[in-house]
Amino acid sequence: IKVIREQIVMIDPGLDVGKVPVFSDLVSLQYVRPEVGGEILFGNSDLPGYDAIDPADPDSYLNRATDDFVDLTVEKVGSRFPGFPDASITSSYAGCYDVTPDWNPVISATPLAGLVVAAGFSGHGFKIAPAVGRLVGDLVVDGHSSDPRIPATDFRWSRFAEADPLTTPYPYVGAGQMR
Ligand SMILES: Cc1cc2nc3c(=O)[nH]c(=O)nc-3n(C[C@H](O)[C@H](O)[C@H](O)COP(=O)(O)OP(=O)(O)OC[C@H]3O[C@@H](n4cnc5c(N)ncnc54)[C@H](O)[C@@H]3O)c2cc1C
Repeated sequence: IKVIREQIVMIDPGLDVGKVPVFSDLVSLQYVRPEVGGEILFGNSDLPGYDAIDPADPDSYLNRATDDFVDLTVEKVGSRFPGFPDASITSSYAGCYDVTPDWNPVISATPLAGLVVAAGFSGHGFKIAPAVGRLVGDLVVDGHSSDPRIPATDFRWSRFAEADPLTTPYPYVGAGQMR
């Protein structure tokens, strides 16, 4: 698992835009979602391949966006949402993604009896959390998945050694690693 910084910029749209949907823009490679208080959260989806990751130190990293990233935000949000002439940036933060070679988690028993690993969520651990909880519980209690919609083989640790990464059958070429 490699560690990579993910930067987030908060934007005040400068006008009442009502309910903002969660929006993944796979052309500009950005995502936005509403935040409590009427701000819009901007995130970057233009991520490097695993081999190109320049690892961050999870114990010591810049926990806000860099000036370059703020400039990128202005460019991307400004071109996708031209109707916000009075938008302003209110704050930013950064956290760390724990990235595996196929950008999918390991949820797996291990050669060490009784040790089940759930790690390497590669920046999408929240959205799949219900299925993760189910699979972890099944692996701990029964040693196998009880739900055919959550195949344990997809997330097995050994897939990397077997050169059998977990990839989507429906890739979108423009989306880089956000597949
Ligand atoms: C900026 C950013 C934006 C993200 N946006 C999204 C998103 O939009 N959608 C999405 O699905 N996912 C998103 N993610 C990813 C999501 O946050 C993670 O995938 C998810 O939180 C991982 O869960 P986890 O339980 O594996 O790890 P964590 O949530 O990191 O939990 C690990 C816990 O272990 C604790 N811990 C660490 N070491 C020890 C120790 N030695 N002893 C005891 N406790 C310890 C830590 O304090 C922590 O509470 C984002 C992540 C970041 C950084």
